Amino acid sequence: MEKQKKALVCGAGGFIGSHLVKKLKKEGFWVRGVDLKYPEFSETQADDFVIGDLRDPVVCKNIADQPFNEVYQLAADMGGAGYIFSGEHDSEVMHNSAMINLNMVDICTKVGVGKIFYSSSACIYPERNQMDPDNPRCSEDSAYPAAPDSEYGWEKLFSERMYLAYLRNHGLKVRIARFHNIFGPEGTWQGGREKAPAAFCRKVAEVVDGGEIEMWGDGKQTRSFLYIDECLEGIRRLVDSEFIGPVNIGSEEMISINGLAEMVMEVADKKLSIRHIEGPLGVRGRNSDNRLINGKLGWKPARSLKEGIAKTYPWIDQQVKNSQNS
Ligand code: NAD
Repeated sequence: MEKQKKALVCGAGGFIGSHLVKKLKKEGFWVRGVDLKYPEFSETQADDFVIGDLRDPVVCKNIADQPFNEVYQLAADMGGAGYIFSGEHDSEVMHNSAMINLNMVDICTKVGVGKIFYSSSACIYPERNQMDPDNPRCSEDSAYPAAPDSEYGWEKLFSERMYLAYLRNHGLKVRIARFHNIFGPEGTWQGGREKAPAAFCRKVAEVVDGGEIEMWGDGKQTRSFLYIDECLEGIRRLVDSEFIGPVNIGSEEMISINGLAEMVMEVADKKLSIRHIEGPLGVRGRNSDNRLINGKLGWKPARSLKEGIAKTYPWIDQQVKNSQNS
């Protein structure tokens, strides 16, 4: 009988990590999850779940106590635009995430894991290529000369480089993806760390038909959003391949923030007006460029943004109803 593969998922209490644990379990892995917290919205499916702080090297040593076949390093101090772009959390974001990566890359090298996946971000791309909402440039090779618009992006870039240095100097088998706005059920939907799709689903769910919702900025900035199941498929394909990355995992279906709000209203079957207010915005335009991943792995999202929103809205609508009734 083939030996059961073992995976370690760091950040398994978070949005992508908790979904990834489910996928790895379906694929037959033995899974250990680690996080500061348990998943918020459903019971973890990990075989073993360790509550621990990955900034502490002793915790990292204890959880990476064996040569796991695969390690997924998703833990990071992050949030939506309200958290990352306000500037108020810059030192924590940089310190906390860098500590986690410094510890994990080192222990995984010492223990001799099979492969380690690192989740970087579209936030590493230079601001200068994202000023025009209609023509953002986010091909992988446009990352340098580097000029991310947030300290979160700078930390991601530093850590990408660190994982690649361990590959060069120690032969650590790394895989690196740059995620572009992942969304779906069981993601943060309130509290300031939620991303645009979840924020609009919540706002639309909270208001009765004919009412009004608020939006930061003029809504003309553009983005693309990727549904969680598509992201997991991209991660697994990358890890199973010989391709190292860094590579974009995102959608090329670019939409304005006004367009996104309209789409959520359509799905919810509500007609609301939008009041534009001041708030943190980020770059003017951003879209995934999937040429590299498509060429190397034959991967691109299988479904439209609207299909993803149609799966996410009912879940957030239910959360809103639950919180109103509690
Ligand atoms: P998330 O915040 O839901 O998950 C991150 C998890 O890391 C959280 O559960 C958090 O508790 C945990 N964590 C933070 N500090 C920790 C510590 N010191 N010790 C142990 N655990 C700690 O975020 P997510 O959306 O699931 O993102 C996962 C990864 O993907 C992150 O690295 C993020 O930067 C990256 N990413 C996500 C997106 C996106 O759209 N969701 C986009 C680009 C990159």
